[in-house]
Order: sequence, then structure tokens, then C-alpha cells
Amino acid sequence: MTPLLPCPRCGQEPTQIMTWTGVTIACKPCDVTCFRFWTSRDRALATLAKVRSEWNANARKIADTTLPFAILFVGAEGQGKTTLARDTDARLRGRGVRLQEMIHEVARDVLVRMNTDLATLRASDALTNEYQEQVFLRQFEEEKKRGFRNYVTDRGPDNLAYLAEHGSALDHVLTKYQGQIGTYRGHVRASVVFHVTPALDVRPDGTRVVTTSNEVHRIDAMIKFLLASWSVRPYQLRSANHAERMTLISNVIRDRAGIAI
Ligand SMILES: [Zn+2]
Repeated sequence: MTPLLPCPRCGQEPTQIMTWTGVTIACKPCDVTCFRFWTSRDRALATLAKVRSEWNANARKIADTTLPFAILFVGAEGQGKTTLARDTDARLRGRGVRLQEMIHEVARDVLVRMNTDLATLRASDALTNEYQEQVFLRQFEEEKKRGFRNYVTDRGPDNLAYLAEHGSALDHVLTKYQGQIGTYRGHVRASVVFHVTPALDVRPDGTRVVTTSNEVHRIDAMIKFLLASWSVRPYQLRSANHAERMTLISNVIRDRAGIAI
């Protein structure tokens, strides 16, 4: 008899249960099940072989599942984008989707590389320009490296909005990286974009560029303008409630990719 592949979601051995009605091969905790009625007493072995090969085919299919698009969370800081990205990434992996590594902390990495901090940035226009330019480039490179599909990221072109609000080099960046921006725009349009609109009180924690709700709304409006000018049609997450946000996200992923998370 063909050996059974492990559960594609948790890697554990599935259980095989034979009753008088039929045979079930399942991983209960992961909700992966194959069932077949017995056809007749003398065909029992054939039925068993069939259900075992069905389990294996199903396991292979689940193990090969990838996301045919990228999932981008955009919006102002402090609105829960990273939390939503992490949860979405974890749930997709929990369903056996072979995602590429999540993209997050790009801004923090750039800050570390530039050997500076946000307080210094706030006082320098030139540094702000360089910082936002680097964050934009780094985000683009990370997404390009992944072929613009099959990953979750906690930002998109947000930095162009930050550049307009806090710097003075938007025009310079748009001209200098014209090619990349054209490519990136096409990619963002083809992605599933969740726009996390302002719903949470923002607390200054020393790692954010924006610290008041007024600033949050200003950035949010600019991100909205940017998306509209790129013909991106985002799904707006308007609730402050994490569970409600996740319900909308999982509905969208189910409808767009046929994956229930
Ligand atoms: Zn399992």
C-alpha cells in the first residue's frame, strides 16, 4: 500500500479511520480530510488504495499552493498595518500557503543603516529626503526580488506620501526613479491592496514619523490621493476592531484566491 504523505499544514501523520460506512484519512486539527464509502466487500482494498492516493494528491496540491498576487497594507503609521500583515501572513501559512518571507521593518532597517533616528530626521530636510528615498527604493527592491507575488507586506508606495508631507524631494524621486515607479505602479494595481484608514488613536512611541491624529489624517489623505492617481482600487479597512478587519481581509482572499483563512 502507498505510504501516506504527512499533513501538508502541520507535517504530522494523518489518521486513517475505517468504519462500516467507509474510510477517512484526516488531520483533524488542520481540517484536511479525505473520505470514501466502501464500494463492496471485495472492492474494499481498492477503495482504501483510492482514498490513500486521493489524500496524497490533495496533500501535494495544498503543499504547492501559492498566492497569485501580493498583499499590501497601506495607510498612515500607527493604524495597525504591521499587526494585520503579520496575522494575514500567519493565517495563510496556517492554511499551507507557501508564502515568501513577509516584508516589514523596511523603514527601521533603513534608519539603522543610515545610523540615525527619527528625532534627527525631523530636524533635517536633507536627511528626511534621503531617508524616504531609501525606504521607497528598499521597498521596491524587496518586492521586485519576490517577483511581485506571493507575499504580504506592511507597506506599499506610502513613502511617496511621506516624502510629500515631510520632505521636499518628491519631484526629484519621481524623476530619478521614473522606470521603477512605472513598474511599481503596475504591480500595485495588480495587487490586493488594503488601505487601513485612520481609526486608532496614535501614541507617540519614538519610532513614528507622525505623532498626532491630525498628522495621521494628513498622511492618510495623501496616500489616498496617491492610490487614486495610480488607479489603484484598494479595499478600505475602516473598522478599528482587529477581528472585523480580519473578517474583511479573509473574505477578500477567499474571493480573489479561493483560499479560506
Ligand atoms: Zn495537520
